[in-house]
Parts: sequence; C-alpha cells; structure tokens
Amino acid sequence: MKDETKCVLTPGVKEARFKSLAPAVHRASTIVFADAEEYATRGERGPDGYTYGLYGTPTTRQLEAKLQALSGAARTLLVPSGQASNAVAAMALLSAGDHILIADTSYPPMRTHADDDLKRFGVGVDYYDPLSLDDLKRRIRPETKLVWCESPGSTTMEVQDIPAIVEIAHAAGALVGCDNTWATALAFKAHAFGVDIVSEALTKYASGHSDILMGAMSFADEEVALKVRAFMGRTGIGVSPDDAALVLRGMETMALRFAHAEAGARRLIGRLQAHPAIAEVYWPPLESNPGHALWKRDFTGAAGVFTVVLADGKSAGLDGALGALRTFAIGASWGGTRSLVAPMSIGKARTVAPVVGEDLFVRFSVGLEAIEELEADIDAFLACLS
Ligand SMILES: *Cc1c(COP(=O)(O)O)cnc(C)c1O
Repeated sequence: MKDETKCVLTPGVKEARFKSLAPAVHRASTIVFADAEEYATRGERGPDGYTYGLYGTPTTRQLEAKLQALSGAARTLLVPSGQASNAVAAMALLSAGDHILIADTSYPPMRTHADDDLKRFGVGVDYYDPLSLDDLKRRIRPETKLVWCESPGSTTMEVQDIPAIVEIAHAAGALVGCDNTWATALAFKAHAFGVDIVSEALTKYASGHSDILMGAMSFADEEVALKVRAFMGRTGIGVSPDDAALVLRGMETMALRFAHAEAGARRLIGRLQAHPAIAEVYWPPLESNPGHALWKRDFTGAAGVFTVVLADGKSAGLDGALGALRTFAIGASWGGTRSLVAPMSIGKARTVAPVVGEDLFVRFSVGLEAIEELEADIDAFLACLS
C-alpha cells in the first residue's frame, strides 16, 4: 500500500474485550456498504437502519433511545435546539388550510414562528387561554389539527389541565403537542396523559451545562413520528454526534441535578415570599400558583425555575439589586449548573390575557452552587430593593 493510501485508510483494531461505560462518539456523513446489493437496497433499512449521517449514527440513536425510554414515547427524534423541536413539529404536521391553537403562555419564539411562518404557509393561527377549557372549546375548529400546550407556561407558570385538553382536542380530530422543557420527563410523563407530541429543550436540564443546544420531539404514535422524521430528512435537519454524546453524559446526572434544583428553589422561595419587596412568586408547587392543583395531580416534581413579581414601586431598584448578586449570573437559558436570574417583559407575547400591572418579571433558575451562598445573594438582592 502506498503512503498516500495509508494516510487515508484507518486500520481496524481489535474491539473485542473493550467495553467502556462511556458511549462512543460515532461521527459520519457517509455510511459505507459491504457490497453493491447492500448499497442498492439501503432505502429498505427502515428508520432504525443507517444510511446517511444526517439520519442518525449509533450515538444519536443512543440518546434518542434514552429519551424515548424516559418519556415513554413510541419514538424520539433529535433536532438542533428546543425551539427547532417546537417549530419542526408544527411545520411537519400542518398544511395550508389547517389551524393551530397555541397556549397564550407558550415560549415566545413559538408564537413568532406561528405568526411569521405558519401563517405565511397558509396555516391559521390562534391563541387560547391556557387555564380555560371553555376558551379552548370556543376556539377549536374543524380545521384545527394541532393544539399546542406548554405546562407550566413560560414565565408565569400556569399549569394546564392536559388530560382535559387532550380529550377536547382528540374529539375535534386534533393532535396535542406540549412543550415539556420545565418539567422534563422526570417530573411530568406527558404521553401518559395523552399528549401526542412532547417537545423538550435538551439545552436546559438534559444537557445541563449551558454548552449545548439541542431539542427532542417524542411521539406517542410511530406513524406521526415517521411523518416528522421524513420532513426532517427533506429539510436537512439533524444533530451532531459530538453534541449528542455531551447530552448523554449530562443526562447521567440529570435526576440528581433536577432534584437538587427543586430543593434549592424551595429554600430561596421561602426567603423571597417572606419579604415585603416581593409581591408574588410563580412556581407550581406553591398553592397560590395558577393550576397548582393540577400540578399536584399530574406532576411528580418541580424544576428549580421560578418567577418573581416585585411589589409596587420596587422596580426602579431592580438593576441595582441585580448588581448585588455575587453567585447568581444574569442570563436567560436556565437548567445548567450555574444559578441564573433574568428580568423579563412578556407583554408582547400575550394576546388572550394581556399582562395586568407592570410588565416586569424576574425569573430565577437554581443551579448547583452552595445554597448558603445563593441565600446570601437573595438577601443582598432583597436588601437592595428595600
Ligand atoms: C429554552 C426553551 C426553549 C428553547 O430551547 P432552545 O434550545 O434554547 O431553542 C423552548 N421552550 C421552552 C419552554 C424553553 O424554556
């Protein structure tokens, strides 16, 4: 063999008796075939076979299998971000003339995708009150093909009656999709409550280290999954095996991180609630939270993400109070090891139930730092507001 060829070919080595606990990273664009017959019939390999890197390698399939088992889905598919998961599900399943109903409290980019893209494709877009089954019933139409939920809702944490929504949607011939990023499949098994498509930003708790963007769509029905998978193939949407390996690693500690964040949130919320500078705390385990009884009925845990509303007259001091934080970082994409805080305004992202009062919400995400240091930060934050 000439040197140039030796440079190109990688010799096979013994793999027998090598067994690592770490999933291997299988990178590939092209897949090679043993003979002409295998190549000619590659299209018959089905969704679990390998034909091209875009459609999956053993590494991305391992992550899909892990998520599928955790969520109780018929099939899970990976996409490059959490928002891609919302948008791809909608684009793959809706056609011109169809109608989508979206919870008013959905992740704001899902709304802009619907308003700017789905409408452009001829899909009718409406929003419904996440807490009112009557409102949903009023707005659902024969053309409604997808009812989109997010429970709890972004920022204001309304918990939805998912089984009742599923019943209404299915009776009308619509599928139900639910963005389950906050709870993850650890705290809410959406498929067990009838949801057809579960969307999750793996960017948050699953990857868990603020260094990866990825999303997952889990499907209750294989046929629906394959329809979306075919759309992904046609539109060239896939994920990197290196990223998938990092999410596989992150998921090994996900249950611990999630439980830790819930416990930390409980302690910090106690401090915040007791202080006169805080008017309201939104977190589903709190009895005052909209839909708390539904959370108690359907969920088995809570994320460490909650939102605070300041008391009247306190918002002028917010920038200074944020500056007093030593351990919390200011940032939006939660679910990592670092505790985060972000001031949010949501007025532009609500149409069914406009924001009453000042449009200022402070969202906290609890990470893995020592709780005493986070408590000291909260104390400094509150002192600055007073
Ligand atoms: C962060 C988030 C997303 C989007 O995830 P990205 O990976 O950042 O695109 C979608 N839905 C919810 C509820 C989120 O919190």
